[in-house]
Amino acid sequence: MVSPAIALAFLPLLLTLLIRYRHYLRLLYRAVLAAWLRDRLTGVPREHRAFQYLLAHAVPGDPRHVLSTLDRWSYGCEHLPSVGPVKGRIVSRLLAERAPRRVLELGTHCGYGAVLLAAGLPPGARLCTVEGNPQLASVAQKVIRLAGFDERTVEVIVGPSEEVIPRLRERHGLAATDFVFMDHGKRCYLRDLRLLESHRLLAPGATVVADNVLFPGAPRFLQYAKSCGRYRCRVHRASLEYFPAIPDGLAELRYTGDG
Ligand code: CA
Repeated sequence: MVSPAIALAFLPLLLTLLIRYRHYLRLLYRAVLAAWLRDRLTGVPREHRAFQYLLAHAVPGDPRHVLSTLDRWSYGCEHLPSVGPVKGRIVSRLLAERAPRRVLELGTHCGYGAVLLAAGLPPGARLCTVEGNPQLASVAQKVIRLAGFDERTVEVIVGPSEEVIPRLRERHGLAATDFVFMDHGKRCYLRDLRLLESHRLLAPGATVVADNVLFPGAPRFLQYAKSCGRYRCRVHRASLEYFPAIPDGLAELRYTGDG
């Protein structure tokens, strides 16, 4: 048993750690513990709860209103690991600058990124979005349709990204993409970037934007992008979605070819 004197000696250290990492503890509580508890108590998964909130509060056919309603839910109710409004503005700006015709998203989750991307597409452009979890893909499909986008503009592809990417050309008619947005498993970023390269799915000058490269972080992806000679790479520093006190960033890669 720990004596009171030893416990007292560790108290300042414990308090310092609690104060220093309070934002991360709050994230752990909101994103993991509270979500798990609500899942158990309600029997309704978090993403379905978010969709129910959208049905009650969002204006159908208005993508900006759908996004701002999801933001309100994520700030005030429960955490959703999307790209969020702050980094979302950077994504929208890059999309407007590049005006891509063929856009690929890896990691649809509940459809936030797909609605954001689709809202910024030039007329006639198309988005393919890939989600490995069928339940999430089903919610995303409903969110995307609620925002007013049909299957000609946004195609939701269900399956693990490493299996979907090699068949994008044959099965989904995506010959090469001008703009890729990655927000799926951070450990998959590098593998999937290499897959896009090896299957020649990046058009010359294509832009690849990757979320959360600083938190939770994708160091191997960043190191490769900066050192392989195929990309001009820039990191836009911001904060984690819905947690302004936790630093994060978006990577912007411009594909320059095999250099
Ligand atoms: Ca994210």
